[in-house]
Amino acid sequence: MAEKTCDVVVIGAGPGGYVAAIRAAQLGLRTIIVEREHLGGVCLNWGCIPTKALLRTAEVYTNMKHAKAFGLKADNVGFDLDAVVKRSRDVAGKLSGGIGYLMKKNKIEVVMGTARLEKSATAPLVRVRTKDGEETIRAKHVILATGARARTIPAAGLEPDGKVIWTAKEAMIPDAMPKNLLVIGSGAIGIEFASFYRALGAEVTVVEMVDRILPAEDEEISAFAFKQFRKAGMKILTGASVSKLEKGKASVTAHIKTADGKVETMQADRVILAIGITGNVETLGLEALGVKVEKGHVVVDEWLRTGVPGLYAIGDLTGPPWLAHKASHEGVICVEKIAGLPHVHPLDVTKIPGCTYSNPQVASVGLTEAKAKAAGKKVKVGRFPFNGNGKAIALGEPEGMVKVVFDEATGELLGAHMIGAEVTELIQGYAIARTMEGTEEDLMHTIFPHPTLSEMMHEAVLDAYGRVVHV
Ligand code: FAD
Repeated sequence: MAEKTCDVVVIGAGPGGYVAAIRAAQLGLRTIIVEREHLGGVCLNWGCIPTKALLRTAEVYTNMKHAKAFGLKADNVGFDLDAVVKRSRDVAGKLSGGIGYLMKKNKIEVVMGTARLEKSATAPLVRVRTKDGEETIRAKHVILATGARARTIPAAGLEPDGKVIWTAKEAMIPDAMPKNLLVIGSGAIGIEFASFYRALGAEVTVVEMVDRILPAEDEEISAFAFKQFRKAGMKILTGASVSKLEKGKASVTAHIKTADGKVETMQADRVILAIGITGNVETLGLEALGVKVEKGHVVVDEWLRTGVPGLYAIGDLTGPPWLAHKASHEGVICVEKIAGLPHVHPLDVTKIPGCTYSNPQVASVGLTEAKAKAAGKKVKVGRFPFNGNGKAIALGEPEGMVKVVFDEATGELLGAHMIGAEVTELIQGYAIARTMEGTEEDLMHTIFPHPTLSEMMHEAVLDAYGRVVHV
């Protein structure tokens, strides 16, 4: 049986794992990465990137349908679903290939196979089942980055069958446009698919258990988004839950308990399950090692240590927020700590931006107004509407808002919340401000270029202090 040795072995080549591997190699650590499926993980292959390619198609299509408003002629606008899906798959394939190049460039050995762990006197031993047999990797440090998958509830029929009940993966490669689509769950993943399919003409119903959509966002943003999606023709049931799904040959009957306690049934061609995420913790041998797993995720400390000597976990495997950039950042923190670098900072979740690439887009960083108040802060809140911004009007995108929340006592920017065109690109400005512990003074003294959507970020800050200019 072949045995390899190295300083760091990373299991899983998603944005957590491959970034950790690159950082380890940069720091002079001999690194091996193990992947059972595709380099790039869910993010590049079945998550962030292919969905954004689909949503770009939806955006271009929507703009083409409104060509007249821009003085353009675009008659008989239509789409070829196979070509739409192919473009998305091609984009994913290209990026996944790029990770292979990065591994080579950084002299990281890639072992394709499925890994599990075994107890050892030092860090756990890694056994990898490859297509040719089994390999053993002995490393000083083992980083688990095995990611997560869609949560299911088989007892209620909320279980994908790949045909009529989909997870995100099947929803990304439809062979036909569903006429009626039911999306269960209104987090970022559910809302992005709802937005894509609605733009391409499907009748879309979204069912959300809590009393508002995009429940992680600020309440005002959720309410704004609700109105916009309704205007776009989506049916949205909040405070409602799907108690049962019954599969027919080509459709599904959903039993929906509505907010007023009644049970309605609905027929859908397809259902997308977007009811949460659970970590890929099984079959790794975690139990035998005594690794603590809670609610389907590996428990780690601020340096991503599992408590088992030499064993770390990063990314989706360690729980929310389930975001690629959180995974990558954890990978860097974990490796830099292993390498003994000074000044490594633990992750602060209030500094992680979150984006939803629907139409309109939603983006935020830091505390919502309600969370800031619940934390005992006295706050100053500023808002600015898209229809007061020249660039938004010129773009034909007058719907949206920017909201900022400051600590009244210190002027610290506690949170920023946005909805509207391109806010997923804008939010980084506020993320930098949060990281630098920026205050209202810093932001007010910052010069924003004209005409840009970013000017609204300035105006919202000015509004919080009674100095707004353009409304
Ligand atoms: P993953 O990307 O899941 O990678 C884990 C890897 O480990 C996989 O390649 C898997 O094959 C491998 N693996 C698992 N077990 C083993 C084993 N035993 N042996 C070897 N290999 C193994 N996040 C964003 O930030 N922005 C977005 O816009 C966004 N959009 C999304 C859209 C969708 C539809 C979905 C599903 C997710 C989206 N996400 C988005 C979330 C993002 O994809 C994840 O947060 C990110 O991929 C997590 O990275 P990771 O490295 O922890 O795990």
